[in-house]
Amino acid sequence: MNHVAKRTVTRLARNYRSQPLRPSLWRCSSTFADREWSTPLAKTLAEAIKVESPTTGSISIAAFMRQVLTSPEGGYYTTRSGGTEVFGKKGDFITSPEITQVFGELVGIWTVAEWIAQGRKRTGIELMEVGPGKGTLMDDILRTIGNFKSFSSAIEAIYLVEASPALREIQKQLLCGDAPMEETEIGHKSISKHIGKPVIWVEDIRLLPHSEDKTPFIFAHEFFDALPIHAFQSVAPSPEQQPKEINTPTGPIKLDQPQKPATTPQWRELMVSLNPKAVVDNIKDEPEFKLTLAKASTPSSLVIPEISDRYKALKSLPGSTIEVSPESRIYAAEFARRIGGSSQTKVAPTTPGSRASSAVPMMPLKRKPSGAALIMDYGTSDTIPVNSLRGIKQHQKVPPLSSPGQVDVSADVDFTALAEAAIDASKGVEVHGPVEQGDFLLSLGIAERAEQLLKNIKDEERRKNLESGWKRLVDKGGNGMGKIYKVLAIIPENDGKRRPVGLGGGISL
Ligand code: SAH
Repeated sequence: MNHVAKRTVTRLARNYRSQPLRPSLWRCSSTFADREWSTPLAKTLAEAIKVESPTTGSISIAAFMRQVLTSPEGGYYTTRSGGTEVFGKKGDFITSPEITQVFGELVGIWTVAEWIAQGRKRTGIELMEVGPGKGTLMDDILRTIGNFKSFSSAIEAIYLVEASPALREIQKQLLCGDAPMEETEIGHKSISKHIGKPVIWVEDIRLLPHSEDKTPFIFAHEFFDALPIHAFQSVAPSPEQQPKEINTPTGPIKLDQPQKPATTPQWRELMVSLNPKAVVDNIKDEPEFKLTLAKASTPSSLVIPEISDRYKALKSLPGSTIEVSPESRIYAAEFARRIGGSSQTKVAPTTPGSRASSAVPMMPLKRKPSGAALIMDYGTSDTIPVNSLRGIKQHQKVPPLSSPGQVDVSADVDFTALAEAAIDASKGVEVHGPVEQGDFLLSLGIAERAEQLLKNIKDEERRKNLESGWKRLVDKGGNGMGKIYKVLAIIPENDGKRRPVGLGGGISL
């Protein structure tokens, strides 16, 4: 990419992420303006709902999630202190890498095993993590692979995709210590304290360079559950539901001839709207936002559920609901293309005067697929998530639409959708899993590694923490994370002949 293009992409990505919702046009009633909103972001969102969608009075769950999680003005990840308020016992939730160092060590071992299985490349290795949180997982991976010199010396750079400047700073301290941080064309840059290689931060994976001769190892731990979802419900055909007006870029226009009534069920999007009992009548303890079913089709409900046959099958059953995360599909596809090359057909140049272009056969942009992605999260193996939007605050479930920006909002990850997106994006990859986290970690030797560590720990408190910690990661009942959390791997296509370690394959050294 040339400099101008790079700068434009950077600017576009920044604008895209950081665009605050526009409240300025709102002509508000005094109750609305004077109301005590739960958070400043609640007020911004409420005003935006009125301004941006005056006819429907609602925004998609995806727009709501994007703002509450990553708005530069009061978003959960972008403005809460990640060090104390988000992660850990005193924060809102705790994740596997934060529970015990053994988790990251085993992910490091998995990566080395995969590198060996792919023929021990001596150059061009890239480590990438999306949504690194406090940076603990990458820190444990780097410390571990520092013991495998021929692997660590083949690493060119470590790339971190992080939307939050506050968390980027915490990651930098952990991974790079006092080394200086520079601003670059695409983001920020420093040097790893473990292996002396560049650490590069960007806000969106699409800003990272693509190269056909690189071997990326990509990690996503509890990242996909934070990506925005849309939710849809199938409704039976009904003549009253046909819109009498349509929304155009300049406002609603009445239809002279109402559209013909639909004869088959249709998807309607579940939207976030204001609750008049709270914002107009000011009734105490009423929630400010609620979910409502859109009265008519929206561009999203007409397009998004059509992207997979899995959704189409449910459309004919009125009452079915589905959750779909287009952004998650974009990320999974991006991982796949970086590993396996692009499956896009190369388009032959058009002849003068003709607008049609003929496609030539699939041409992967990568000569030989290489690298891998490991996606670890909670979600469903083969069913489509339903009603999974949840809010977490101080380790308790809370309503997901409450206190925008001060509650962690997430949704179940649809692992089959990720697999589908990866396979569709690149002919050069295959997908393994998801398997349950407990099985993955046990087959990578978590019990043996914990035992080895315990031999050198005398302090009773630390022994107890390690023991309860590793068991919690694999336990499948109670508050164990062994069953709910799952692991999916994307690796280079090999006709299913070689399974990755922990996902049915063994270690061959
Ligand atoms: N992987 C870490 C943190 C998980 S929390 C762990 O397991 O402990 C989710 C992480 O993803 C945070 O670092 C958050 O800032 C980041 N994040 C959330 N939405 C994002 C987005 N749209 N783009 C980039 N990063 C995002």
